[in-house]
Amino acid sequence: MFEKYFSKNAQQMQGSEIREFFKLTEKPEVISFAGGFPNKACLPTKEVEEISSRLLVEAEEGMLQYSPTEGQEMLRKYIVKFMAKKGIDIEVDNVLITSGSQQGLDLVSKIFVDPGDKILTEAPSYVGGLGAIRNYQGDIISIAVDDDGIKVDILEQKLKDLASKGKTPKFIYLIADFNNPTGLTISKKRRKRLVELAEKYGVLILEDDPYSKLRYNGIDEPAIKSFDKEGHVIYLGSFSKIFIPGVRIGWVVAHKEIIQKLILAKQSTDLCTNSFGQRLIATCGEEGIIDKQIEKLQEFYRKKRDKTLESLAKHFPIEASWTEPDGGFYTWVELPSNLNSKEILVKAIDNNVAFVTGSAFYVDDQGNNAFRLSFSQPDIDKIEEGIYRLSKTIKRELVK
Ligand code: PMP
Repeated sequence: MFEKYFSKNAQQMQGSEIREFFKLTEKPEVISFAGGFPNKACLPTKEVEEISSRLLVEAEEGMLQYSPTEGQEMLRKYIVKFMAKKGIDIEVDNVLITSGSQQGLDLVSKIFVDPGDKILTEAPSYVGGLGAIRNYQGDIISIAVDDDGIKVDILEQKLKDLASKGKTPKFIYLIADFNNPTGLTISKKRRKRLVELAEKYGVLILEDDPYSKLRYNGIDEPAIKSFDKEGHVIYLGSFSKIFIPGVRIGWVVAHKEIIQKLILAKQSTDLCTNSFGQRLIATCGEEGIIDKQIEKLQEFYRKKRDKTLESLAKHFPIEASWTEPDGGFYTWVELPSNLNSKEILVKAIDNNVAFVTGSAFYVDDQGNNAFRLSFSQPDIDKIEEGIYRLSKTIKRELVK
């Protein structure tokens, strides 16, 4: 009825199949490996309650008043220190506080993407990142990945082909650590190469990093941003997975000129990020509560990751393969190409277990035989049962 009123841009916007189907997974009897949410048992409720009530007395204005669009000074300074620990040397003016990193994805797309602009992404990639780019009518070109992350040779070939046609993509969107959905991490060698390619071909990199602090084994890889000397890399951070998602606090680190443009774009979006959350996060950060929470989460999710991988090895059929992530929330499962994960999901839900189908993470017709398992949400003592139920469903499909 209202179609004719919508702008051309709004008319081409599409819903994500992943969000639609989450409703089905919410039945209490379903063991859900679907949502990439932090586990509720680990939310720092007590700490948040104590600090919030103290701050409402101590810093009433800072909590309840509007804040500057760029973010509160206290939080921006904390981010500068947080980034320094990752080997990224910046100043306060390089930081913009956002409503979650999802707003970062939207604002970056808003200031860079004209309809038809080429944007390179890993395939598969994060639904919300792909959605933000598509909402501004970016033309997404997918680059395949292997165990070391995005295949930089294929990427370079693509950049060359485009350059020969006089085209420069605006940016390369990457989740370098414990990718959503694959769980894969880009190797150090490739990270360096990516920055070299960005400089050589004059393209920006958008590094989306909500998960790197959630490492369960091995040593941290340097952020792509840490190799950036010329300002080609825009970095997105978030407190959603490492602390709490409900206050919606994320941040962008970029060249000051880019931050200035993002501030203009943000002004007409929400004036400022929620003040209560900013002050709360900055205080929890300064008082070491976030660092402590990260340590706790590493322990907590490591066990769940281990249980998931152990259960997959024990129950899944030989025809299936999956990734073994060193951190984050996800493992990516691939089945023989004649199996369809959408059909399997319908049967899996009847069997009270859920996941997200692979095709949701592609912009083309790939991923039909794959799916994402998130081990963050199910209770640890339900994981094996969930994987077992799923294996039964898959095995039945295999013998058809
Ligand atoms: N990027 C990636 C890769 C994600 O997985 C998510 C959340 N699932 C986000 C961005 C958005 O997170 P938030 O807005 O809560 O910071």
